[in-house]
Amino acid sequence: METRQGGCNCGAVRLQAEGPPLRTGLCHCLTCRKATGSVFNAFAVWPRDRVAVTGDTRHWENRHFCPGCGSSVFALSEPEYEIEIYLGSFDAGPGDLPPVYELWVKRREGWLPPLPGVAQHVEDRPQP
Ligand SMILES: [Zn+2]
Ligand SMILES: [Zn+2]
Repeated sequence: METRQGGCNCGAVRLQAEGPPLRTGLCHCLTCRKATGSVFNAFAVWPRDRVAVTGDTRHWENRHFCPGCGSSVFALSEPEYEIEIYLGSFDAGPGDLPPVYELWVKRREGWLPPLPGVAQHVEDRPQP
């Protein structure tokens, strides 16, 4: 079984994801920019019950971070059946989870080219 370990900078928050993610993406939206302090957010999504999280988190809306070191670690969808783990949270980096789509590309920095061969969405992913 493929297992991935991750957590925050100080180690108080740890997570373990079992099995392959449902999908992996990048988001350039303003909320992701501010939540991560970077110009885009890279994440992978698992069913909530495939990820074990230990350690207390604080959260703003659905985005969880470590109260000790401030690292952004994951976001929960509502209702909480999916968990979006920020790729930079994984211990093994560079990892093996290339994004398959980009969101909010209208907010992408002008100096940042689109990822080749990856679906480009102007805003959010179209709802199924
Ligand atoms: Zn921490
Ligand atoms: Zn976003």
